[in-house]
Amino acid sequence: MTDAILVFNAGSSSIKFALHPAVVEGAPLLTGKIDGIGRAPDFTVRDARGNYLPEDDLQEIQVTADHEQLTTRLLEWLQHHQTGINLVAAGHRVVHGGRDFTGPAIIDADVLGKMQQLVSLAPSHQPHNLAAINAVSAWDPGLPQIACFDTSFHRTQPRLAQLFGLPHELTDQGILKYGFHGLSYEYIASVLPEHLGSGADARVVVAHLGNGASMCAMKHRHSVASSTGFSALHGLIMGRRCGTLDAGVVLHLIQQQGMSADQVRHLLYQESGLFGVSGISNNMKVLEASADPRAKEAIDLFCYRAACELGSLAASLEGLDAIVFTAGIGENSATVRDRICRRLGWLGVDVDQSANQANDIRISTSGSGVTVLVLPTNEELVIARSVRSLTGLAEVELQLAL
Ligand code: ADP
Repeated sequence: MTDAILVFNAGSSSIKFALHPAVVEGAPLLTGKIDGIGRAPDFTVRDARGNYLPEDDLQEIQVTADHEQLTTRLLEWLQHHQTGINLVAAGHRVVHGGRDFTGPAIIDADVLGKMQQLVSLAPSHQPHNLAAINAVSAWDPGLPQIACFDTSFHRTQPRLAQLFGLPHELTDQGILKYGFHGLSYEYIASVLPEHLGSGADARVVVAHLGNGASMCAMKHRHSVASSTGFSALHGLIMGRRCGTLDAGVVLHLIQQQGMSADQVRHLLYQESGLFGVSGISNNMKVLEASADPRAKEAIDLFCYRAACELGSLAASLEGLDAIVFTAGIGENSATVRDRICRRLGWLGVDVDQSANQANDIRISTSGSGVTVLVLPTNEELVIARSVRSLTGLAEVELQLAL
């Protein structure tokens, strides 16, 4: 039997999961995804070598069900089909940790209560995270579960970086810039010394450009500012989210156009961003392949706004020593990286075109004043590490090594 940690990343319409070895850090034993929740769930699993398991093995999970039911089906499937695995703990990506959670936490009744209170701050994500936690508790009440918050990494930001220009009573109620994608930034911060040596502690902006997109300014590998705000709507243009928007537009839509709060919410979260501007797709790869001028405009806007945000974060750091591109677009789109970096020559950024086209790790020229890196992120690994350290599995590793 192999002891394993089950890592969950539950989104609005998908549950990603990975089985990590419990004691020694290594490649996942299994990774998978349930997509299309709420419509027709599609379950895919890859083994340790990255090969997809045959569809016949997955039939029993292809059902129409909600997050909690599908998590239970997944646990049943693991029990029946992965008989060599002994689950010893579970870790969950949780979108919102509010002001209280500055790091991962062992889930007990108190922590669960606090997470429930935070649902109103992340209504489209937090309930799905809680659903997965509840399903695991019901399945095995004794299994230790750890919550890893996307906001925690940003709790080191100075107060000014967190404030809106709103009355202080609202700040006291928690209307602040929280910042998201913290697990991705924590992973990148952990590997920076490998690539930058002592420069890892200098002024770095990490650009997490995926379907959800954000940037984080780091000094000494701690967050000092980020593009995301109170909700995951703020900041960069995203796949379907609008990014930073004049609040007056929201008032106009409600007061002059008679839209309801739910309609505005749907517009800003689902109908905007790359999808809304192009009218074609939220998928950067599709837009890059399109000859439609609206696709071109959506990419232009994405890159323009990303370069402007990077300039703003460089101001928060009072200079810039390195940029790291990560996540689906950041890791794969040479075009987007090039378009963003071309606007940053004034900061000393100079990209080596052939290195960029080849998706090399270092894509800046030797003479560039700012080092530019492309690094894959690994949020699941950060969760597995937190589970090991909070459940004492990491201590077992230390004892074994002695
Ligand atoms: P998330 O985890 O937020 O759902 P990802 O980090 O997987 O998103 O990023 C998805 C985005 O990455 C999509 O817009 C996709 O088109 C883009 N992407 C992936 N590969 C490429 C590529 N080769 N060229 C351009 N864009 C790409």
